[in-house]
Amino acid sequence: MDANKLFGMALQLGPEWKVTRSELSAVDHTLKIWLDFREGHRFPCPECGRPSPAHDTVEKRWRHMNFWQYKTELVARVPRVDCPEHGVRLAEVPWARPGSGFTLMMEAVILMLSQEMPVSQVAKMLKEQDTRLWRILEHYVEKAYRKEDWSGVKRILVDETSSKRGHRYVTAVTDAESRKLLFLAEGKGKEALEAFAKEMREHGASPEQIELICMDMSPSYICGAKEHFPKAQIVFDRFHLMQMAGEAVDQVRKEFVRQGLLPKGSLWALRGNEWTRSEGQKSLRASLCAAYPRLGRAIGLREALQEILAQEDPQELRWWFQWADRSRLAPFRKLSKTIKDHLDGVLAFLQSRVTNGLIEAINGLIQLAKRMARGFRSFRCLRIAAFLKAGKLRLDIPALAT
Ligand SMILES: [Zn+2]
Repeated sequence: MDANKLFGMALQLGPEWKVTRSELSAVDHTLKIWLDFREGHRFPCPECGRPSPAHDTVEKRWRHMNFWQYKTELVARVPRVDCPEHGVRLAEVPWARPGSGFTLMMEAVILMLSQEMPVSQVAKMLKEQDTRLWRILEHYVEKAYRKEDWSGVKRILVDETSSKRGHRYVTAVTDAESRKLLFLAEGKGKEALEAFAKEMREHGASPEQIELICMDMSPSYICGAKEHFPKAQIVFDRFHLMQMAGEAVDQVRKEFVRQGLLPKGSLWALRGNEWTRSEGQKSLRASLCAAYPRLGRAIGLREALQEILAQEDPQELRWWFQWADRSRLAPFRKLSKTIKDHLDGVLAFLQSRVTNGLIEAINGLIQLAKRMARGFRSFRCLRIAAFLKAGKLRLDIPALAT
Protein backbone atom coordinates (compact mmCIF):
# COMPACT_ATOMS: atom_id res chain seq x y z
CA MET A 1 0.00 0.00 0.00
CA ASP A 2 1.40 3.39 -0.81
CA ALA A 3 1.63 6.21 1.72
CA ASN A 4 -1.05 8.37 0.12
CA LYS A 5 -3.60 5.58 0.23
CA LEU A 6 -2.68 4.81 3.83
CA PHE A 7 -3.08 8.42 4.94
CA GLY A 8 -6.37 8.62 3.06
CA MET A 9 -7.69 5.61 4.98
CA ALA A 10 -6.43 6.94 8.30
CA LEU A 11 -8.19 10.25 7.68
CA GLN A 12 -11.39 8.36 6.81
CA LEU A 13 -11.94 10.40 3.70
CA GLY A 14 -15.07 9.89 1.65
CA PRO A 15 -14.87 8.93 -2.05
CA GLU A 16 -14.89 12.58 -3.12
CA TRP A 17 -11.55 13.32 -1.46
CA LYS A 18 -8.16 11.74 -1.92
CA VAL A 19 -4.60 12.26 -0.76
CA THR A 20 -2.52 13.40 -3.69
CA ARG A 21 0.85 13.95 -2.12
CA SER A 22 2.63 13.69 1.21
CA GLU A 23 6.00 14.99 2.26
CA LEU A 24 8.00 14.29 5.36
CA SER A 25 10.58 16.91 6.18
CA ALA A 26 13.35 15.81 8.48
CA VAL A 27 14.63 19.37 8.64
CA ASP A 28 11.68 21.07 10.28
CA HIS A 29 10.03 17.86 11.52
CA THR A 30 6.80 18.27 9.63
CA LEU A 31 4.55 16.03 7.64
CA LYS A 32 2.46 17.70 5.01
CA ILE A 33 -0.46 15.92 3.39
CA TRP A 34 -2.10 17.38 0.30
CA LEU A 35 -5.73 16.59 -0.40
CA ASP A 36 -7.79 17.16 -3.46
CA PHE A 37 -11.33 16.43 -4.53
CA ARG A 38 -12.60 14.35 -7.41
CA GLU A 39 -13.05 16.42 -10.54
CA GLY A 40 -16.69 17.21 -11.27
CA HIS A 41 -17.98 16.31 -7.77
CA ARG A 42 -20.91 18.45 -6.68
CA PHE A 43 -20.61 19.62 -3.06
CA PRO A 44 -23.61 20.65 -0.98
CA CYS A 45 -24.19 24.37 -0.47
CA PRO A 46 -23.36 25.00 3.22
CA GLU A 47 -26.55 27.00 3.55
CA CYS A 48 -29.23 24.83 1.94
CA GLY A 49 -27.47 21.55 1.15
CA ARG A 50 -28.22 21.67 -2.57
CA PRO A 51 -25.48 19.85 -4.52
CA SER A 52 -23.72 22.54 -6.48
CA PRO A 53 -20.83 22.66 -8.91
CA ALA A 54 -17.44 24.00 -7.86
CA HIS A 55 -16.95 27.61 -8.86
CA ASP A 56 -13.29 27.92 -7.89
CA THR A 57 -11.05 26.74 -5.08
CA VAL A 58 -9.27 28.23 -2.07
CA GLU A 59 -6.24 26.68 -0.41
CA LYS A 60 -6.77 25.91 3.29
CA ARG A 61 -4.56 24.38 5.96
CA TRP A 62 -5.36 22.45 9.13
CA ARG A 63 -3.21 21.29 11.96
CA HIS A 64 -3.65 17.55 12.48
CA MET A 65 -2.44 15.15 15.14
CA ASN A 66 1.27 14.61 15.12
CA PHE A 67 2.52 11.70 13.09
CA TRP A 68 5.10 10.35 15.55
CA GLN A 69 7.34 13.34 16.21
CA TYR A 70 6.25 15.11 13.01
CA LYS A 71 3.95 18.09 13.24
CA THR A 72 1.29 17.29 10.71
CA GLU A 73 -0.55 19.64 8.43
CA LEU A 74 -3.29 18.98 5.90
CA VAL A 75 -3.42 21.19 2.84
CA ALA A 76 -6.41 21.15 0.51
CA ARG A 77 -7.93 23.00 -2.36
CA VAL A 78 -11.40 23.59 -0.98
CA PRO A 79 -14.07 24.23 -3.57
CA ARG A 80 -16.32 27.25 -3.41
CA VAL A 81 -19.67 26.10 -4.67
CA ASP A 82 -21.99 28.15 -6.77
CA CYS A 83 -25.50 27.77 -5.39
CA PRO A 84 -28.26 29.28 -7.52
CA GLU A 85 -29.92 30.58 -4.37
CA HIS A 86 -27.02 31.50 -2.04
CA GLY A 87 -24.30 32.39 -4.49
CA VAL A 88 -20.66 31.42 -4.10
CA ARG A 89 -19.93 29.72 -0.77
CA LEU A 90 -17.02 27.79 0.66
CA ALA A 91 -17.89 24.09 0.81
CA GLU A 92 -17.53 22.21 4.10
CA VAL A 93 -14.90 19.52 4.46
CA PRO A 94 -15.51 16.32 6.39
CA TRP A 95 -12.38 16.56 8.54
CA ALA A 96 -12.82 20.03 10.06
CA ARG A 97 -15.37 22.53 11.31
CA PRO A 98 -15.82 25.60 9.13
CA GLY A 99 -13.35 28.28 10.13
CA SER A 100 -11.25 26.03 12.37
CA GLY A 101 -7.54 25.72 11.72
CA PHE A 102 -7.54 22.26 13.30
CA THR A 103 -8.94 18.95 12.10
CA LEU A 104 -11.77 17.48 14.17
CA MET A 105 -9.47 14.74 15.42
CA MET A 106 -6.95 17.33 16.55
CA GLU A 107 -9.69 19.21 18.36
CA ALA A 108 -10.60 16.03 20.19
CA VAL A 109 -6.97 15.68 21.30
CA ILE A 110 -6.89 19.30 22.47
CA LEU A 111 -10.10 18.81 24.47
CA MET A 112 -8.82 15.67 26.12
CA LEU A 113 -5.43 17.11 27.02
CA SER A 114 -6.94 20.34 28.32
CA GLN A 115 -9.04 18.43 30.81
CA GLU A 116 -5.89 16.93 32.27
CA MET A 117 -3.38 19.80 32.34
CA PRO A 118 -3.13 23.60 32.22
CA VAL A 119 -3.88 24.97 28.78
CA SER A 120 -0.54 26.79 28.68
CA GLN A 121 1.13 23.40 29.06
CA VAL A 122 -0.97 21.86 26.29
CA ALA A 123 0.04 24.78 24.08
CA LYS A 124 3.70 24.21 24.83
CA MET A 125 3.42 20.51 24.19
CA LEU A 126 1.65 20.98 20.86
CA LYS A 127 3.72 24.06 19.96
CA GLU A 128 0.54 26.02 19.40
CA GLN A 129 -0.64 29.46 20.47
CA ASP A 130 -2.75 29.14 23.59
CA THR A 131 -5.28 31.66 22.30
CA ARG A 132 -6.08 29.25 19.47
CA LEU A 133 -6.61 26.44 21.96
CA TRP A 134 -8.91 28.56 24.14
CA ARG A 135 -11.04 29.28 21.09
CA ILE A 136 -11.48 25.54 20.47
CA LEU A 137 -12.37 24.90 24.11
CA GLU A 138 -14.79 27.79 24.11
CA HIS A 139 -16.54 26.48 21.02
CA TYR A 140 -17.23 23.05 22.54
CA VAL A 141 -18.09 24.36 26.00
CA GLU A 142 -20.51 26.97 24.67
CA LYS A 143 -22.15 24.51 22.33
CA ALA A 144 -22.76 22.03 25.16
CA TYR A 145 -23.75 24.78 27.60
CA ARG A 146 -26.42 26.16 25.31
CA LYS A 147 -28.05 22.73 25.22
CA GLU A 148 -28.22 22.40 29.01
CA ASP A 149 -31.75 21.88 30.28
CA TRP A 150 -32.47 23.43 33.68
CA SER A 151 -36.16 22.67 33.84
CA GLY A 152 -35.62 20.34 36.80
CA VAL A 153 -33.45 22.65 38.89
CA LYS A 154 -35.10 23.47 42.22
CA ARG A 155 -32.38 24.05 44.77
CA ILE A 156 -29.34 26.15 44.11
CA LEU A 157 -26.22 27.13 45.91
CA VAL A 158 -24.85 30.62 45.38
CA ASP A 159 -21.29 31.23 46.39
CA GLU A 160 -18.70 33.85 45.74
CA THR A 161 -15.11 33.06 45.13
CA SER A 162 -12.16 35.21 44.24
CA SER A 163 -10.90 34.86 40.69
CA LYS A 164 -7.48 36.01 41.75
CA ARG A 165 -5.79 36.24 45.11
CA GLY A 166 -7.62 38.78 47.19
CA HIS A 167 -9.75 40.55 44.63
CA ARG A 168 -11.98 40.28 41.55
CA TYR A 169 -14.97 38.31 42.74
CA VAL A 170 -16.98 35.85 40.78
CA THR A 171 -20.31 34.31 41.70
CA ALA A 172 -20.90 30.63 41.08
CA VAL A 173 -24.36 29.09 41.00
CA THR A 174 -24.55 25.33 41.45
CA ASP A 175 -27.45 22.90 41.29
CA ALA A 176 -27.59 21.40 44.78
CA GLU A 177 -28.97 18.11 43.50
CA SER A 178 -26.97 17.30 40.39
CA ARG A 179 -23.98 19.22 41.84
CA LYS A 180 -23.41 20.78 38.45
CA LEU A 181 -22.00 24.25 38.05
CA LEU A 182 -24.79 26.16 36.29
CA PHE A 183 -23.53 29.69 36.08
CA LEU A 184 -20.46 31.78 36.65
CA ALA A 185 -20.53 35.56 36.55
CA GLU A 186 -18.19 38.37 37.36
CA GLY A 187 -19.05 40.40 40.41
CA LYS A 188 -20.93 39.41 43.49
CA GLY A 189 -24.37 40.05 44.81
CA LYS A 190 -27.57 41.23 43.31
CA GLU A 191 -26.45 41.72 39.70
CA ALA A 192 -25.06 38.19 39.52
CA LEU A 193 -28.37 36.74 40.69
CA GLU A 194 -30.26 38.89 38.24
CA ALA A 195 -28.07 37.64 35.42
CA PHE A 196 -28.64 34.05 36.51
CA ALA A 197 -32.40 34.54 36.57
CA LYS A 198 -32.16 35.82 33.01
CA GLU A 199 -29.95 32.93 31.93
CA MET A 200 -32.50 30.44 33.28
CA ARG A 201 -34.90 31.41 30.53
CA GLU A 202 -32.29 30.37 27.95
CA HIS A 203 -32.32 26.86 29.40
CA GLY A 204 -36.00 26.04 29.43
CA ALA A 205 -36.42 27.16 33.01
CA SER A 206 -37.78 30.06 35.02
CA PRO A 207 -36.79 31.71 38.34
CA GLU A 208 -40.18 30.79 39.85
CA GLN A 209 -39.22 27.12 39.92
CA ILE A 210 -36.41 27.76 42.41
CA GLU A 211 -37.56 26.55 45.84
CA LEU A 212 -34.42 27.03 47.81
CA ILE A 213 -31.31 29.20 47.59
CA CYS A 214 -28.37 28.48 49.79
CA MET A 215 -25.88 31.31 50.30
CA ASP A 216 -23.97 33.51 52.70
CA MET A 217 -25.55 36.40 54.63
CA SER A 218 -24.39 39.22 52.40
CA PRO A 219 -27.26 41.73 52.12
CA SER A 220 -26.75 42.08 48.40
CA TYR A 221 -27.36 38.34 47.77
CA ILE A 222 -30.36 38.36 50.09
CA CYS A 223 -31.79 41.33 48.24
CA GLY A 224 -31.16 39.72 44.84
CA ALA A 225 -32.71 36.43 45.97
CA LYS A 226 -35.85 38.12 47.25
CA GLU A 227 -36.23 40.22 44.15
CA HIS A 228 -35.51 37.65 41.45
CA PHE A 229 -36.48 34.35 43.08
CA PRO A 230 -39.72 35.22 44.85
CA LYS A 231 -40.68 31.63 45.68
CA ALA A 232 -37.33 30.53 47.06
CA GLN A 233 -36.59 29.83 50.70
CA ILE A 234 -33.27 31.38 51.66
CA VAL A 235 -30.91 29.06 53.48
CA PHE A 236 -27.71 29.98 55.29
CA ASP A 237 -25.53 26.94 55.41
CA ARG A 238 -23.00 25.60 57.84
CA PHE A 239 -20.01 26.41 55.67
CA HIS A 240 -20.72 30.13 55.65
CA LEU A 241 -21.74 30.20 59.33
CA MET A 242 -18.52 28.48 60.32
CA GLN A 243 -16.60 30.93 58.20
CA MET A 244 -18.13 33.73 60.28
CA ALA A 245 -17.38 31.92 63.54
CA GLY A 246 -13.79 31.47 62.38
CA GLU A 247 -13.50 35.19 61.74
CA ALA A 248 -14.86 35.90 65.23
CA VAL A 249 -12.17 33.65 66.77
CA ASP A 250 -9.62 35.48 64.66
CA GLN A 251 -10.68 38.84 66.02
CA VAL A 252 -10.29 37.62 69.60
CA ARG A 253 -6.93 36.10 68.69
CA LYS A 254 -5.74 39.43 67.32
CA GLU A 255 -6.25 41.11 70.72
CA PHE A 256 -3.55 38.80 72.03
CA VAL A 257 -1.36 39.22 68.99
CA ARG A 258 -1.39 43.01 69.50
CA GLN A 259 -0.19 42.48 73.06
CA GLY A 260 2.55 40.23 71.78
CA LEU A 261 1.30 37.32 73.85
CA LEU A 262 1.04 34.62 71.21
CA PRO A 263 4.06 32.60 70.13
CA LYS A 264 4.93 31.91 66.53
CA GLY A 265 2.89 29.14 64.96
CA SER A 266 -0.16 29.83 67.08
CA LEU A 267 -2.23 30.97 64.13
CA TRP A 268 -2.67 27.48 62.71
CA ALA A 269 -2.99 25.94 66.13
CA LEU A 270 -6.04 28.13 66.75
CA ARG A 271 -7.62 28.17 63.33
CA GLY A 272 -9.51 25.49 61.47
CA ASN A 273 -10.66 22.12 62.63
CA GLU A 274 -9.55 19.52 65.11
CA TRP A 275 -8.89 16.95 62.41
CA THR A 276 -6.45 19.15 60.52
CA ARG A 277 -4.22 19.90 63.50
CA SER A 278 -0.94 18.20 64.25
CA GLU A 279 -0.15 16.87 67.74
CA GLY A 280 2.11 19.86 68.39
CA GLN A 281 -0.60 22.28 67.35
CA LYS A 282 -3.10 20.51 69.61
CA SER A 283 -0.95 20.85 72.70
CA LEU A 284 -0.01 24.47 71.92
CA ARG A 285 -3.68 25.22 71.51
CA ALA A 286 -4.60 23.59 74.82
CA SER A 287 -1.96 25.55 76.71
CA LEU A 288 -2.96 28.86 75.08
CA CYS A 289 -6.61 28.27 75.96
CA ALA A 290 -5.64 27.51 79.57
CA ALA A 291 -3.45 30.61 79.82
CA TYR A 292 -5.95 32.98 78.19
CA PRO A 293 -9.57 32.21 79.14
CA ARG A 294 -10.98 34.72 76.63
CA LEU A 295 -9.28 32.82 73.84
CA GLY A 296 -10.49 29.53 75.31
CA ARG A 297 -14.06 30.82 75.39
CA ALA A 298 -13.90 31.99 71.78
CA ILE A 299 -12.67 28.60 70.65
CA GLY A 300 -15.26 26.83 72.78
CA LEU A 301 -18.04 28.90 71.23
CA ARG A 302 -16.83 28.14 67.74
CA GLU A 303 -16.68 24.42 68.39
CA ALA A 304 -20.06 24.34 70.09
CA LEU A 305 -21.61 26.04 67.08
CA GLN A 306 -19.96 23.51 64.80
CA GLU A 307 -21.50 20.65 66.80
CA ILE A 308 -24.93 22.23 66.86
CA LEU A 309 -24.88 22.72 63.11
CA ALA A 310 -23.96 19.09 62.66
CA GLN A 311 -27.16 18.09 64.48
CA GLU A 312 -30.73 18.84 63.67
CA ASP A 313 -32.08 20.16 66.97
CA PRO A 314 -32.83 23.88 66.72
CA GLN A 315 -33.24 24.09 70.52
CA GLU A 316 -29.52 23.72 70.91
CA LEU A 317 -29.02 27.08 69.26
CA ARG A 318 -30.83 28.75 72.12
CA TRP A 319 -28.23 28.02 74.80
CA TRP A 320 -25.52 28.90 72.34
CA PHE A 321 -27.05 32.37 71.93
CA GLN A 322 -27.14 32.75 75.72
CA TRP A 323 -23.56 31.67 76.07
CA ALA A 324 -22.37 33.97 73.26
CA ASP A 325 -24.36 36.92 74.63
CA ARG A 326 -22.80 36.51 78.06
CA SER A 327 -19.31 35.73 76.80
CA ARG A 328 -18.02 39.31 77.02
CA LEU A 329 -16.52 38.70 73.59
CA ALA A 330 -17.76 41.42 71.25
CA PRO A 331 -17.19 39.45 68.02
CA PHE A 332 -19.31 36.55 69.33
CA ARG A 333 -22.04 38.80 70.64
CA LYS A 334 -22.16 40.31 67.20
CA LEU A 335 -22.24 36.87 65.57
CA SER A 336 -25.04 35.79 67.89
CA LYS A 337 -27.07 38.81 66.82
CA THR A 338 -26.36 38.21 63.14
CA ILE A 339 -27.52 34.60 63.41
CA LYS A 340 -30.65 35.63 65.33
CA ASP A 341 -31.41 38.22 62.65
CA HIS A 342 -31.15 35.52 60.00
CA LEU A 343 -32.62 32.72 62.05
CA ASP A 344 -35.15 31.51 59.47
CA GLY A 345 -32.40 30.76 57.01
CA VAL A 346 -30.28 29.00 59.64
CA LEU A 347 -33.18 26.84 60.82
CA ALA A 348 -33.93 26.04 57.18
CA PHE A 349 -30.41 24.73 56.91
CA LEU A 350 -30.85 22.48 59.96
CA GLN A 351 -33.95 21.02 58.35
CA SER A 352 -32.81 20.68 54.75
CA ARG A 353 -29.04 20.19 55.04
CA VAL A 354 -29.03 20.50 51.26
CA THR A 355 -25.53 21.60 50.75
CA ASN A 356 -23.47 19.44 53.06
CA GLY A 357 -20.01 19.33 51.57
CA LEU A 358 -21.13 20.87 48.31
CA ILE A 359 -19.41 24.24 48.70
CA GLU A 360 -16.12 22.60 49.51
CA ALA A 361 -16.47 20.34 46.47
CA ILE A 362 -17.31 23.17 44.10
CA ASN A 363 -14.59 25.41 45.50
CA GLY A 364 -12.13 22.60 44.93
CA LEU A 365 -13.17 22.29 41.29
CA ILE A 366 -12.94 26.04 40.76
CA GLN A 367 -9.43 25.96 42.22
CA LEU A 368 -8.60 23.31 39.62
CA ALA A 369 -10.11 25.52 36.93
CA LYS A 370 -7.93 28.42 38.07
CA ARG A 371 -4.90 26.20 37.78
CA MET A 372 -6.01 25.12 34.32
CA ALA A 373 -6.39 28.76 33.27
CA ARG A 374 -3.17 29.76 35.01
CA GLY A 375 -1.49 32.71 33.41
CA PHE A 376 -4.68 33.91 31.78
CA ARG A 377 -6.17 36.98 33.23
CA SER A 378 -9.45 36.99 31.47
CA PHE A 379 -12.61 35.89 33.16
CA ARG A 380 -13.54 34.20 29.89
CA CYS A 381 -10.78 31.63 30.27
CA LEU A 382 -11.67 30.98 33.90
CA ARG A 383 -15.27 30.45 32.91
CA ILE A 384 -14.42 27.96 30.17
CA ALA A 385 -12.10 26.09 32.51
CA ALA A 386 -14.67 26.08 35.31
CA PHE A 387 -17.31 24.55 33.07
CA LEU A 388 -14.89 21.93 31.83
CA LYS A 389 -14.15 20.96 35.43
CA ALA A 390 -17.47 21.45 37.18
CA GLY A 391 -20.18 21.85 34.54
CA LYS A 392 -20.64 18.13 33.89
CA LEU A 393 -21.38 19.18 30.31
CA ARG A 394 -21.99 16.66 27.62
CA LEU A 395 -19.25 17.79 25.28
CA ASP A 396 -19.77 16.76 21.74
CA ILE A 397 -16.18 15.65 21.29
CA PRO A 398 -15.36 14.52 17.74
CA ALA A 399 -14.75 10.78 17.58
CA LEU A 400 -11.10 9.85 17.24
CA ALA A 401 -12.08 6.77 15.28
CA THR A 402 -15.39 5.34 14.22
ZN1 LIG B 1 -27.71 27.21 -1.16
